[in-house]
Amino acid sequence: MQAPLDPETAPRPKIKDLEVMVGEVVRETPEAATLVLFTGNDRLEYRPGHFLTLEPQQFRALERFIAYFEDCKGTKEQARAYSLSSAPHERSLAITIKEERYVPGITRYPPLLSPLLVWDTLPGTRLVVTGFSGPYVLPHDIESRTDHLVHMCAGSGIVPNMSILKHALHQHLKVRHTLIYANRVWEDVIFRQQLDELAAAHPKRLRIVHALSREKKRLRSSSDVRRGRVTEEIIREFVPDPSSVEVFVCGPGVTKFDRLAAKEKGGEPQRRFLEAVMTHLASIGVPRGRIHRESYG
Ligand SMILES: Cc1cc2nc3c(=O)[nH]c(=O)nc-3n(C[C@H](O)[C@H](O)[C@H](O)COP(=O)(O)OP(=O)(O)OC[C@H]3O[C@@H](n4cnc5c(N)ncnc54)[C@H](O)[C@@H]3O)c2cc1C
Repeated sequence: MQAPLDPETAPRPKIKDLEVMVGEVVRETPEAATLVLFTGNDRLEYRPGHFLTLEPQQFRALERFIAYFEDCKGTKEQARAYSLSSAPHERSLAITIKEERYVPGITRYPPLLSPLLVWDTLPGTRLVVTGFSGPYVLPHDIESRTDHLVHMCAGSGIVPNMSILKHALHQHLKVRHTLIYANRVWEDVIFRQQLDELAAAHPKRLRIVHALSREKKRLRSSSDVRRGRVTEEIIREFVPDPSSVEVFVCGPGVTKFDRLAAKEKGGEPQRRFLEAVMTHLASIGVPRGRIHRESYG
């Protein structure tokens, strides 16, 4: 009998184009929506944390914008990456998109694809997606690495972690989870109900801490809701075992455009969520090799 393949070193499934149909659109927040995708009989091989890509060129409505942007930017418009919010054991494939905003004076070009996906993609729309890939995945041997997985997310950074969380709660029974989730206000919290349901279903294995930077309403008197950004103190409080945890950090990070703009002004780009959290994790003593990160910048 052949020895079983080591899942970390076994040949990766081929990345391929897949024709899918939007089966359902779920409004998650005022700025975010989940597209549930029907895939026919295609066998889907993906890992929790993987993303797919979408070419903006396939949308007829974007043709003129793409021609104009390519003219201005001097490069081809690239495919956009979207993490899967579904988990491999679930029946449907899903992606969750938060629309980017155009901020006069700050954003150089109006965001191209995300507003279309969030607002103008109806059930029945056919899409070609390419997948699945990405290094931000749950290791197969997670149970031998740790019994405590910490998820640090901001905004749409929750998407791959939702897949990882659902999969690990379902599959890796020895692992418990702490999710520290940063948003501006309650309304921005993606998957709020699903997260509450998961926490209720797994009270001993999932703890959720919300950090809300601009919420004006009185916060419910719970130790697991904090006003303000994610600080080193918050992480220290909820991660008492820094040397043995495994951390998945996902959210906005400094982009190449931020770096370029800062360089033009002769300065350094302002740190974003990802850079701030990496500094905090280093300060409390989480070994670099135990941190997985994905930047949505
Ligand atoms: C691995 C990965 C996974 C991701 N997963 C998700 C997810 O699950 N959900 C989600 O909502 N998002 C996700 N993203 C982000 C997503 O890929 C898109 O970047 C996002 O949706 C914005 O796309 P857009 O076409 O709307 O905006 P874009 O047109 O790409 O614009 C975004 C910003 O870049 C600026 N910009 C673009 N081109 C230039 C240029 N040439 N010079 C200067 N500035 C420029 C724009 O001004 C704007 O501020 C992921 C990103 C990565 C890398």
